[in-house]
Formats: sequence, structure tokens, C-alpha cells
Amino acid sequence: MAVINCPRCKKKISDKTKKCSHCGLSLQAMDRDKIANVNNVSRINQAQRLMTYSFVAMLLFCGGFLFMFWDTIEQGTWQYNLAMTSTVIGFILYIIIRIRLLFFKRNK
Ligand SMILES: [Zn+2]
Repeated sequence: MAVINCPRCKKKISDKTKKCSHCGLSLQAMDRDKIANVNNVSRINQAQRLMTYSFVAMLLFCGGFLFMFWDTIEQGTWQYNLAMTSTVIGFILYIIIRIRLLFFKRNK
């Protein structure tokens, strides 16, 4: 008996079970290949979403960073604060997403 992830709710279930005990999805109609396929697709979607987030975070970081040095904005103005905030948030988000992606790829 092996433990698989339910294709719908992602909770751990037995591969011998006919119905997911968590969300009630019928697994009888799905053969192993189909389940693996659904799992793969949702993994790819999730990875893609993370990549999109990291791209947005990167833009935020670069945008803020460039903006800070583009026109010599004086410190203390709201433009400077905005650029600073954007850079910091973008940087932190980027790191978090990168770490999540790292763990995501490791948990195959
Ligand atoms: Zn389920």
C-alpha cells in the first residue's frame, strides 16, 4: 500500500482507497496514470505561480531601486520612502519565494 496525495485536496490518502476520505473525490474512475498526471499538472501550475510571484517581487525590487537613484530624489520625501519600501518589500518577498521554490523542488 502506498500513500498518495489526493488530486483535488492534496491530503494524504491510500492508493487503494476508492474515495478520498477528506473531500469525497471518487478515485475509482481515475487510474494511477491519471492521478499522477493531475498531480503533475498542479505541481507545474504551483511552480509557475511561484515563478510569477518571484518575477513580481524582482520587479518591485528593481523598480524601487532604480527609482531611488534615477532622479536624485531627496531623502525623506514620500517618493524616496515609497521607493525604499518597494525595494525592501521586493527584496524580502523575493528571498521568501526563492526559499519556497527551493523546498518545492526538493519535495519531489
Ligand atoms: Zn481529497
